[in-house]
Amino acid sequence: TASSGCQKIRGAQLQELLESKHNVLFDCDGVIWNGETAVAGAPEVVRALKQRGKRVFFVTNNCTRPRQSYVQKFARLGFADVDENEIFSSAYCSAAYLRDVATFSGKVFAIGCPGVHTELRDAGITVVEEEEDGPDVNISNCALDSDVRAVLVGYDEKFSFMKLAKASCYLQDSECLFLATDPDPWHPLRGGRITPGSGSLTAALETASSRKATVIGKPSRFMFECIASQFDLDPESSLMVGDRLETDIVFGVNCGLSTVLTLTGVSTFEQAQVYKDSDEPEKKDFVPDYVVESIADFLEALEE
Ligand code: PLP
Ligand code: CA
Repeated sequence: TASSGCQKIRGAQLQELLESKHNVLFDCDGVIWNGETAVAGAPEVVRALKQRGKRVFFVTNNCTRPRQSYVQKFARLGFADVDENEIFSSAYCSAAYLRDVATFSGKVFAIGCPGVHTELRDAGITVVEEEEDGPDVNISNCALDSDVRAVLVGYDEKFSFMKLAKASCYLQDSECLFLATDPDPWHPLRGGRITPGSGSLTAALETASSRKATVIGKPSRFMFECIASQFDLDPESSLMVGDRLETDIVFGVNCGLSTVLTLTGVSTFEQAQVYKDSDEPEKKDFVPDYVVESIADFLEALEE
């Protein structure tokens, strides 16, 4: 049964699981692709699910691209007809949060890649323009914008001391919102390297400001609420498929979804077992209901 958790499934059992669900939420990196390479069989799985009348959504903590750019990436990697409104990224959902949930007016100071800035602008939110600071500008004399009412932190390869310093000044106003696109600590790159994730930049700002950020991306429930508000989603008939226990699986558990760990990404079966065998009750939130080697396993289950 699902209650024991961490159950490796394929074939008929997987078929039964998929038949019992109407909506499938896929994490992106480590599940349907790794960087610029599609996971073998993933485009066929997405197509087959849609042919069976399932609704498919993509839920990514990667804030670096606007949704339109994801549409192009899906097409480039062989995923036919993935629609912009099926894609929920932490940048898009952060903008939706500021627009629809936060009682917010004023400007946003955004630390993040162009994807974050584009999504905010598309949502009609005013972002403080990044200006090049001259050689004599430092944190004591730089200009601060008195209209800033929110700070948003996401993955930013141009993260700097000055950005950190300005953001911590804005956050001294306790009315100024403090949001983070996602809590991811790091991401795997090719050749065994890693890149620090948004979570590591947020941690620096949390220390500097003595505040805690509100996280928008997985494992926060907000991304599911974002999907549910646009599509009529019932948690009980929804499945979350992810590769990272601490974000994807906790997200699924937080939202009341059945969860599948796929082993084509960050987390291992052994790590899932460690959480399962832990004496600490809160570690149970990290245990997936089911485990598959790859989502390619969905294909035979759908064809049978
Ligand atoms: N953020 C960044 C900057 C990334 O590079 C990645 C993965 O490559 C992610 C987040 C995680 O994305 P996902 O939630 O699709 O696994
Ligand atoms: Ca992932």
